[in-house]
Amino acid sequence: MLAMQFQLNQSQWLKADDLRRNQFRQLHALLTHAQATVPFYQDRLEAAGFHAKRELTPQLFQNLPLLSRREVQDHGPDLYSRAVPPTHGRITEGTTSGSVGNPLRFKSTDLAYFFWHAFNLRDHLWHNNDFSRKMVAIRVGESMNLPNWFHGVEPEPFSTGPLVVVSSSAGTEDQIRQIIEHQPTYLLGHATQVTLIAGECLRRNIRFPWLREARVFAEMLTPDARALIKRAWGAKVVDIYSTRECGYLAVQCPLHEHFHVQEGAILEVLDAEGIACKPGEVGRVVVTPLHNFAMPFIRYDLGDFAEVGEPCDCGRGLPVLKAIAGRVRNMLVLPSGRKIWPFLGFYRDTLPVRQRQVIQHSVEHVELKLVVDRRLTPAEEDEARSHFCETVGHRFRVTLSYLDQIPRSAGGKFEEFISLVSS
Ligand SMILES: [Zn+2]
Repeated sequence: MLAMQFQLNQSQWLKADDLRRNQFRQLHALLTHAQATVPFYQDRLEAAGFHAKRELTPQLFQNLPLLSRREVQDHGPDLYSRAVPPTHGRITEGTTSGSVGNPLRFKSTDLAYFFWHAFNLRDHLWHNNDFSRKMVAIRVGESMNLPNWFHGVEPEPFSTGPLVVVSSSAGTEDQIRQIIEHQPTYLLGHATQVTLIAGECLRRNIRFPWLREARVFAEMLTPDARALIKRAWGAKVVDIYSTRECGYLAVQCPLHEHFHVQEGAILEVLDAEGIACKPGEVGRVVVTPLHNFAMPFIRYDLGDFAEVGEPCDCGRGLPVLKAIAGRVRNMLVLPSGRKIWPFLGFYRDTLPVRQRQVIQHSVEHVELKLVVDRRLTPAEEDEARSHFCETVGHRFRVTLSYLDQIPRSAGGKFEEFISLVSS
C-alpha cells in the first residue's frame, strides 16, 4: 500500500497526456480481458472494431457505446467475467441502492478494493491529516467503536487514532450528543447529513472547536451547504466523489475546492451529442474503472453531471472537475424547457427550517417540503416562496408543506431537489 502511495506521488505530476497514455495501456488490458471472458462485451467490442492485437486509439474508445445503469440491471450476469485472473484476489459482491428504482448488483475484486483504499489513503495524505487523531464517521448501520481508520484494510497502512461509527439513523440531536462526547478531529458523513448537523449547531449555537475537517461523500455538496458547514464549525470541508460500483473517482485538490480525477478510472464528461465538454461546460459523467476485472464497466453512464475545470495551478496533471452537479432528476425544468441546477441557497439562519426538500410537480408548480422547529409565519412563508423564485429566476406557484421528517433512501441518500417533470 505504501509502495502504491509512492507511485501515486510520482504519477500525479505527470503531464495530462502522459497520464492518459498510461491509462490507455491499462485500458487495453481491460478491454482484451472483457472481450475474451465477458459475454456481454464479446460482440460489442468486436462491433466497435476492437482487437487485442491492434492499437487502442482514443477514437476507437470514443466509438464504444455507453453502458447505462438499465443495461447493467438487465444483463447482470452477462457482465461478469468467466475467468477473473486469480492474482486479483477474492471476488466480492455488492449492491448499490441508488436513490431511485431498482438496486444494482455488482461484482468486484480484492485488487479493485486495494485501489479504493489506496485513493482513500492518498486523500488523507493530500489533506495532511493527522493519523493520530480521532475520526467520527456517520454511516448506515450500528454505532460502534473501531481501533483504526483503515479498519478492514489488510494490513492497516498506519496506526491511527480510533474510528467511532455513529449510526446515520440516529436523530440529529443524538448524533450531535455523540460527536460532542467523542470530540473528533475529523468528521465523515453523507453531505446532507453533515449539513443537517451543521445547521442544527448553528441554530443552537453549538461549536465543535476540536473539529479540524468535515469530509463528505455520496451526495452533491452544494456551494451553500459547504458555506454553511464552514460557518458552523470553522472547519475545512473536503468533498469526495466515489460510487460503490466504480470506486473512488475524484479527490478534492489540497489547494482548491475542485476535484482531481484519480488514475484508477478514465472519466469522461460528455455533452448531449456525446462530445467531450470543455472547461466551464457541464455534461454527463461516463466512467471506465480500470481495475475491476470481475465485472468491467466500460464507458458506464453514472447518471451524474459534472462541470469540467481548467488545468490546476497546483501542478498536478490529473484532470480537474470544477463541480459535481448531481443527477438529471435533480434539475429544475423551466416552462421554456430549459433545465437548470437549483442551487437554492436556502439554508437561512433567519428561518427555523431544519431540513427541506423541493419537489417540482409541473413546469409551473413547486412544492417546498419543510421540517421546522415551528411553523413559519405568513411573512416567512412569503419570504421562502419569493426567495425560491428569485434564486431560480422564474415565478413558480410555490406551495409549502410541513413534515415531521423527510425519509432517506435505503442507502441513506437524500435528495434536496427532485423534478417529477419528465424530460
Ligand atoms: Zn490541484
